[in-house]
Amino acid sequence: MSTRWSPKWKAIEIDHNNKKVTICYDETTKLYVCPICSPNCAKGVSTDYSTYFFDLEDLKRHLDAHKHGLWLQKKIRTEEEEEEPKLSVGEEEIEEE
Ligand SMILES: [Zn+2]
Repeated sequence: MSTRWSPKWKAIEIDHNNKKVTICYDETTKLYVCPICSPNCAKGVSTDYSTYFFDLEDLKRHLDAHKHGLWLQKKIRTEEEEEEPKLSVGEEEIEEE
């Protein structure tokens, strides 16, 4: 089947925010793959569903987005921060008279 696209993922290292990040690159299609969305691509496993990028800069921006969890954090966790532990320790103050 010539219609079947079988990418040959190659694990390559890029510099991202002064850190080495291993991403996957397909020489045939010139596509980059997000390693977080497709952790198996470095092993040569093609994925049915993933996030592909033609531009390395786009991938880097995507990686940044992962870091901030822009779309994963649907619930903004502010409630936990506001809740203070209510300990009743203060009630047992020693009264010296
Ligand atoms: Zn991703």
